[in-house]
Amino acid sequence: MVQTDPAPARSDAPEAPRPDAAPAPLPGPVPGESAGLAVRDVVVRYGAGTRTDPGTTAVAGVSLAVATGEVLALLGPSGCGKSSLLRAVAGLEPVAAGSVAWDGRDLTGVPVHRRGFGLMFQEGQLFPHRDVAGNVAYGIAGMPRAERDARVTELLDVVGLAGYARRAVATLSGGERQRVALARSLAPRPRLLLLDEPLSALDRGLRERLALDLREALRATGTTAVFVTHDHDEAFTVADRVAVMDAGRLLQVAPPEDLWRAPASRRVAEFLGYQAFVPRGAGTVLAVGPRGLRLVTAGAPSSGDTWAATVVGSVFRRGAVETTVDVVLPGADHGAPARLVALAGGGGAGGVDEGPEPGARVHVAPDPAGCAVVPA
Ligand code: ADP
Repeated sequence: MVQTDPAPARSDAPEAPRPDAAPAPLPGPVPGESAGLAVRDVVVRYGAGTRTDPGTTAVAGVSLAVATGEVLALLGPSGCGKSSLLRAVAGLEPVAAGSVAWDGRDLTGVPVHRRGFGLMFQEGQLFPHRDVAGNVAYGIAGMPRAERDARVTELLDVVGLAGYARRAVATLSGGERQRVALARSLAPRPRLLLLDEPLSALDRGLRERLALDLREALRATGTTAVFVTHDHDEAFTVADRVAVMDAGRLLQVAPPEDLWRAPASRRVAEFLGYQAFVPRGAGTVLAVGPRGLRLVTAGAPSSGDTWAATVVGSVFRRGAVETTVDVVLPGADHGAPARLVALAGGGGAGGVDEGPEPGARVHVAPDPAGCAVVPA
């Protein structure tokens, strides 16, 4: 059963072979082994690997498990090995060491199209000469017609494209194309869906909405998935657990809330969007998040740290006044100010607060809800 996405869409491209009509049933779980994906000590290398040319080690010994029904995000900067790991799981890249197993069965030597996994990429790679329904039906060509049509209708509904069946793909927006690509990936009910930066080609606002819809589609279909992204917001929106990766290794794997509250290291905190780090003593630093400061109302009693700051400007965003400030944090390198966002302190004067004027001298304090204490 071919569940990978077909070749890139070019009007002159020959169509990829159709999937087998009747795929061989996939074996069931090995008794006593945990269900789902198990990645153990996987190493992926490119290049010669000789004494003169050591090649590149893209994945340097990664172990993780994904339970059936779970959505795991692989989060990390460009080049950290996310795609290489995903490709190794898919069988597109050989593993130099370690193993990939499903339901306790080692997949070494099992070719891509026999793993029962689906793949979706940044560019949906739709067939331009097929309509929407034809694209979604690509991986389920062997199904009886009525069943196949019902499945296409169901999937278009899941991805928010009900009524689009007969549309030509050339008339779709970028976001709609990715919805079709998602429906096509889900149609054959892959036992694992591997998504490589599926939203990265879209603009920010669209990405946020599609991330929510993607999560809903995966949950509604009970799909087990591994989702690669360099965007922490996207990872937090879509995934049940987030695996933070750096330089070929996993730094931390945890549910979004746990990760946000307790990053295992400063490096992890940086990937999550924490923006400033204040030494705390006892080998810890206070990581200040993107909305991790509060303006201290003049005269209000305050406990703990407050820092003097200069207002750069105030804007109303996401339902609150965000005041951008330059603040010299204790222990900052060379006394350089950090530019951070502070929210209104709360409990202050009533009425509409437009925020302090640019140039105003204010005091800010860390907001525990937007900060984390991490090992230095
Ligand atoms: P990410 O998905 O996190 O951006 P990749 O897995 O694409 O990271 O790449 C990890 C490392 O492996 C990078 O240094 C990259 O240059 C290298 N790499 C990826 N693919 C190849 C390849 N086909 N040949 C050689 N090096 C590669």
